[in-house]
Amino acid sequence: MSTETTTKDGNGKATRKAAETALAALPKPAAAHGAETSPVKTDIDIRDRTLWLCRMPYGGSRMLAAAFCSIGLDARVTPDEDARTLELGGKYTSGDECYPQRIVLGDYMKLLEDRKLDPAKTAFLLPTANGPCRFGQYIALLRRILDDQGYDDVAILSFTSADGYAGIGDQATAMIRTAWRAVLIQDILLKLLLMTRPYEVHPGRTDKVYLESLDLMAGIVARQDLTSKERLAAIKTGLRKVKEEFLAIPVRQEDRPLIGVVGEIFCRLNTFSNNELIRHIEAQGGECWLAGVGEWVWYTNAEAFRRHREERKRFTKPWLTTFVTSRIMRSDEEALYEDFRDVFGHRPEAHVDEVLECAGPYLPQWGAMGEMVLSTGGAIALYRRGADGIVDISPFTCMNGIVTEAVYPRVSRDHDHIPIRVFYFDGTQIDLERDVGIFLELAKTYKRRKKMTGA
Ligand code: SF4
Repeated sequence: MSTETTTKDGNGKATRKAAETALAALPKPAAAHGAETSPVKTDIDIRDRTLWLCRMPYGGSRMLAAAFCSIGLDARVTPDEDARTLELGGKYTSGDECYPQRIVLGDYMKLLEDRKLDPAKTAFLLPTANGPCRFGQYIALLRRILDDQGYDDVAILSFTSADGYAGIGDQATAMIRTAWRAVLIQDILLKLLLMTRPYEVHPGRTDKVYLESLDLMAGIVARQDLTSKERLAAIKTGLRKVKEEFLAIPVRQEDRPLIGVVGEIFCRLNTFSNNELIRHIEAQGGECWLAGVGEWVWYTNAEAFRRHREERKRFTKPWLTTFVTSRIMRSDEEALYEDFRDVFGHRPEAHVDEVLECAGPYLPQWGAMGEMVLSTGGAIALYRRGADGIVDISPFTCMNGIVTEAVYPRVSRDHDHIPIRVFYFDGTQIDLERDVGIFLELAKTYKRRKKMTGA
């Protein structure tokens, strides 16, 4: 790489070219799990097993379980996490693993060791990816631990296209579309919850409506007697009812600081792993705007397009598949959100294109991967939408959190010095109340002087 070339070009194009040349010279990393190396046993039929899903978050997993039920599977969400989760997660790991992995592992082992589930009738869902961090290794770790402990009959279902969604069977396509709708429902319900709960007059009312809404929507998503078109119509009817229920909750008019919440997807969404950080912020006078699950799905789509471009595969079959998939996804998203334009009008979600554009000057998509890009871009998109502070939730030692923490001082300086803070979690006790209190004071001060008032 020529230093002269990179420094002469002010617009960064030469820097990018030099970086790409250097990257191309590196040996290609082996795929974490190709079809042949995958620890997912592809010859196991999960139709006569109970499929367990960890909580990411509870509502999202509830919806996804319902999507699996819609093709005739018995899918359930793991019970509440507790001290036993951490105990078992710690027992079977060395301490080098990420905190989310300990929780997922602990929850799954709890089912086998405490509930004594029949291994031959049990399957665990564990998503995977060939990303830049340890995530791609966890499916192999789970397989090894299960085998070592004599649970080799337990099946693992991986939510990845690497093995053609093995085990789901010939209804995979229908299931994937229903799963996407389930993700959208989860994001809508969570948004309603977070916009309403801080202002509720009767404590607990919003949580109750939220849980009832989950029941209602899970019942609709799980139905096996509907065509795709009928399911969409039934979901829309259900969501309109949900909206009415939320709008009927008595609320106070208050001017609270708006806190954007980004970070590692599991820790950000799993309330046990982040010690209910959002409730702490609400209890101390804030309102949270949390990045949902859909953002990640759109990001994987954007990454697929990037790969097609780099491999010069535009207008080939894989490119066409991604193109059609994204059109279908967009159509479902617009259909489900259209009845919420009035309530979400002042809280417009940033699309992944905007998030990537925001992250570009700090962590460009061509040079960085994964949640660090989304967290950085998401923080700026939330700043543009009038947030008064940004909280990044990360597991302790998470590679994404380490990178974003290094980038945030510059992001803050370039954006009116909006307060940004990373909260790390690893299952140990921290004085969250004190830390949240200090952060909210900074957010309130920023709110009084800020120049950016909203999108
Ligand atoms: S994103 Fe962070 S916590 Fe999650 S697997 Fe990667 S390094 Fe671990």
